[in-house]
Amino acid sequence: MAATAVLAVLAALTVLLAGCGRPGTPPPKGPQPSALPSYRVESGDAVTGSPTLDAARSRGHLVVGVKEDQPYLGQKNPATGEYSGFDIEIAKMLAADLGFGPDRIEFRTIASANRETALQNGQVDYYVGTYTINDNRKKLVGFAGPYFLAGQSLLVRKNDDRIHGPEDLDGKKVCSAAGSTPYQRIQKQYPQARLIGYDTYSACVDNLITGQVDAVTTDNTILMGYAAKVPEELKVVGPPFSQEPYGIGTPKDDTVLRGALNDALARHEENGDWQQAYDATLGLSGVPAPAPPPIDRY
Ligand code: GLU
Repeated sequence: MAATAVLAVLAALTVLLAGCGRPGTPPPKGPQPSALPSYRVESGDAVTGSPTLDAARSRGHLVVGVKEDQPYLGQKNPATGEYSGFDIEIAKMLAADLGFGPDRIEFRTIASANRETALQNGQVDYYVGTYTINDNRKKLVGFAGPYFLAGQSLLVRKNDDRIHGPEDLDGKKVCSAAGSTPYQRIQKQYPQARLIGYDTYSACVDNLITGQVDAVTTDNTILMGYAAKVPEELKVVGPPFSQEPYGIGTPKDDTVLRGALNDALARHEENGDWQQAYDATLGLSGVPAPAPPPIDRY
């Protein structure tokens, strides 16, 4: 082989290896754009009487609140600014039925603690980001769905054998996102734990890896995503110890929007989009698609 050809092969190999991260680390898996469904954009005119949709139509685009640091669920690519994950797909498939294609959705990152105010102040039209439906929140916002059922769990360092469930948290530093249901559950039911609240779970995970905290707690879906990214450093332990039905948050009084989102969700569950979106995103963190939970039209 000519010297230039050898050099070219070596250069190509270097590029390939650089993409593989540390030795022994599996290549990072992420949503493959080619596996994602595309959603037929409807005319959207059929839905009338929603103040939220009327405002979005005159603005020209929808504003959807999401997370940006939750692998396989809602994650923002810092280089391109693009969002991907199961929650993002749910947001897109519902938007399509309301008449908004992907180029007419502006995603806006909103932390767990700020979701209700963002919906109340009209900062977002709806919210799709691991948002548990519960009665307290229903006093402030509306919920379409649920579109998935998660459960609270624990993430610890791979070499730590002290923690297997929430009853092992006495005296341990456990981190969660302020304003989240997992944070509130530890505060109420496991007061012996040393609870630390950050804005995001990714900040908690950074502190877990560097040893500042002993565990991170939130939904199994979110934790499995972090563990799947660095399986040599982190593991999810114990069975889930709560039920977290994920809803699409809406402004409380816009019942037309809530109904339209429920109709759209039902259609995409029936036509296979939900399953295909799951397989191409959250399914990559290792759990096969369950059946979607029944929609609760309250
Ligand atoms: N599902 C839980 C909640 O809505 C935890 C995840 C989150 O903070 O987004 O509070």
